[in-house]
Amino acid sequence: MEVKYFRDVTDLPQLSVEETLRLKEVTKKFPFYANSYYLDLINWQDEADPIRRMVVPTTEELEDESWGATDPSREKYYTTLPGLQHKYSDTAIMLTGDSCYGNCRYCFRKRLFVDGGRYEVLRDYKSAISYIEGHKEISNVILTGGDPLLLETSRLRDILTELKWIKHVKIIRIGTKAPVYNPFRIIDDAVLPRLIDKISGPQKLIYFVLHFSHPREITSEAVKAVGILLKSGAVLLNHHPLIRGVNDSPEVLAELHRKLSFIGVSPYYVYQVRPAKGNKTYSMPIARAYRIFLESQKQLSGTAKRARFVLSHKLGKIEVVGLDENYIYTKYHRSPKNDLVDRMVTMKIDEEKYWL
Ligand code: SF4
Repeated sequence: MEVKYFRDVTDLPQLSVEETLRLKEVTKKFPFYANSYYLDLINWQDEADPIRRMVVPTTEELEDESWGATDPSREKYYTTLPGLQHKYSDTAIMLTGDSCYGNCRYCFRKRLFVDGGRYEVLRDYKSAISYIEGHKEISNVILTGGDPLLLETSRLRDILTELKWIKHVKIIRIGTKAPVYNPFRIIDDAVLPRLIDKISGPQKLIYFVLHFSHPREITSEAVKAVGILLKSGAVLLNHHPLIRGVNDSPEVLAELHRKLSFIGVSPYYVYQVRPAKGNKTYSMPIARAYRIFLESQKQLSGTAKRARFVLSHKLGKIEVVGLDENYIYTKYHRSPKNDLVDRMVTMKIDEEKYWL
């Protein structure tokens, strides 16, 4: 199926002229990018439609300009080569490109789409491969970006083949939103499943980390794309933020995780929205987000109840593990400093706190 891409809100006939003019101002700061497949999932009669909220700008993004940072997880600090991050000793991240199949409005890496992204992504994957080869502690390599499935399959094959020969790399994770934004990328590519089948096996597993955020994204086309990845031998996980106005109800969140478990995708991480510029309208206080998460978990069977609620913080992945009337309990799920891993940190609840 032909999927048409749009970079200009004036090309969306569903918006009124006044609306278009207002949103055009937003896109000068935070660019718009979406395609016909995803835009067709929107109920345009509903201004608060959750799918619309994920991809169509809102003037609320310009509201509190002092809020947030350009690089909220301080990825720059952990970047060892252009396009290669090494934050946790066993895991390296390769940023394979600076664009996705759509610009999620709440993206924490939106700086890549705004400007300078091209300097932060891999220009020379061979030097990244050499770095990984030289660091025997790296057992996991994550390809992300931007979306790695935007690469030609032949280019993806080159990178995966190089990684296949590095003995200490056991898991290759591909972070992609293709099954959500453009499932035809997978459905229409007969070579991709063969490539996954060839690389993934007992010595080297390929995981796809998908990014479904709302049950309505699980369309028949998305299910088909997911089925192809599963059949090719990949392991499938899903992560997403808890987004205000999208999945901030226990029922919606539970339905999302339940449906994902039904199609063979394990819920993995639910993120507190990172405080990137323009993201305040998509975020909410940590305590509120965690309560929603907890309520959703009560509605799920074990197979659907596998996600952790985490903050991907500059200090590491901080998991919220409990809360009572006065305190919120967290622990370092991952940290660049190994002696911090699993350390508990208890904090007084602040109902206004969006980040640590
Ligand atoms: S898919 Fe991920 S990296 Fe791409 S725009 Fe969405 S949140 Fe950002």
